[in-house]
Amino acid sequence: MPPTDAPHHLDSPIQAFVDALHARFAGLTDGRVADYIPELAKADASKFGIAIATVDGRVYEAGDTRAPFTIQSISKPLVYGVALEDCGAERVRASIGVEPSGDAFNSISLEAGTGRPLNPMINAGAIATSSLVQGADRDTRLARVVGALSAYAGRPLAIDEAVFESERSTGHRNRAIGHLLRNHGILADDPEPALELYFRQCSVVVDARDLALVAATLANGGVNPATGQRAVAAEHLGAILSVMTTCGMYDFAGEWVARVGMPAKSGVGGGIVAVLPGQLGIGVYSPALDARGNSVRGVKVCEAISAELGLHFLQPPRVAGVAVRARYDGAQVRSKRRRTGAEAALLDRHGASIVVHELQGDLRFATLEPVIRALSEDTPAPAFAVLDFKRVAHADAAAVRLLARLVEAFGRRGAHLVFSRVRRGSPFDALAAEVDAHHV
Ligand code: GLN
Repeated sequence: MPPTDAPHHLDSPIQAFVDALHARFAGLTDGRVADYIPELAKADASKFGIAIATVDGRVYEAGDTRAPFTIQSISKPLVYGVALEDCGAERVRASIGVEPSGDAFNSISLEAGTGRPLNPMINAGAIATSSLVQGADRDTRLARVVGALSAYAGRPLAIDEAVFESERSTGHRNRAIGHLLRNHGILADDPEPALELYFRQCSVVVDARDLALVAATLANGGVNPATGQRAVAAEHLGAILSVMTTCGMYDFAGEWVARVGMPAKSGVGGGIVAVLPGQLGIGVYSPALDARGNSVRGVKVCEAISAELGLHFLQPPRVAGVAVRARYDGAQVRSKRRRTGAEAALLDRHGASIVVHELQGDLRFATLEPVIRALSEDTPAPAFAVLDFKRVAHADAAAVRLLARLVEAFGRRGAHLVFSRVRRGSPFDALAAEVDAHHV
């Protein structure tokens, strides 16, 4: 009999890990809260929250994960997504580059000649981005931005009016940047509405748990895993995660990739988000910042999570996954059916020229390449090949295209490639469409 006060379930080692991480860095008191925006100087430096959200919406949290703070620059990649949706990638790229500036967040890094901000993560690029949000009037554009941020977090978010007022009345440097952008024609009109939208988006209130869900939404192809609501069109995720990777931590971006290896974004409110596509999102809150404006504890926590959970994006699982479960030819395998002597003789003669590959798992370049290699390098080349898809769970777009080209290669030699036991539905319907499109 277990003791009566024993918990009903096992202590999760993941929860224990997050708790231990919090305890480990809570004593770190380096850094200072931002004070160039007077209202931010009121932040309590002892606050510290860590949240990790999985791509199916489970959140592990420790510490002050419900303490509110302003999102600040973490709004930048999210609003970049809104601009991409509203204007299209080409229009956005005409106004804002994707080169890391290696400069501070408030640097005036404009491309020589064109005046185009180097990237959307520095203030200049973010102000230009906000000017691209579409809507008939200011309120509509603001609702569009707050609506998008809320979809990422999975709950309705609001603006801290005191922070907004504080930032608007003291944001002379950002206002100067706005006028420079106007001078270069990057802003088509009066900079004030774009600046106001930018100051407001920075003043949206979140907590560490929200940030973990924002990050998990980015990790989950743009769909919030808790609500199932899409926050951004899937086609723009690559662009968002790219600028987070190269520019998200400002002049710490290179160091961040080396140490943590996840697309990320920090804000001077003390928040950091980090994303491992397909796996998880991290949200940390601790308002004491280093000289570059990144949360001191936040950087440490992300480093530790990456190292201890093995999450650096350039250290993917070593084995790419094996697609071939079994391979045999017609001479090796016989069905139990009784055959006439003539049939058996035929199989004896031609069986070896029929090969069957039983595939499994996910088909992508790395798993499909060995199958293609075997079929194209086998001598003699098989006259008849079967790819058995019974255990194939998924094929990406590149694998579908390669399979269609493989069918054609067989056709050119007068040989046959047959797909057996292919499931209905995507992505296999796309495979049928690809094959048909090239066989008319
Ligand atoms: N609103 C802040 C500013 O423009 C955002 C900066 C940041 O979070 N790095 O100064």
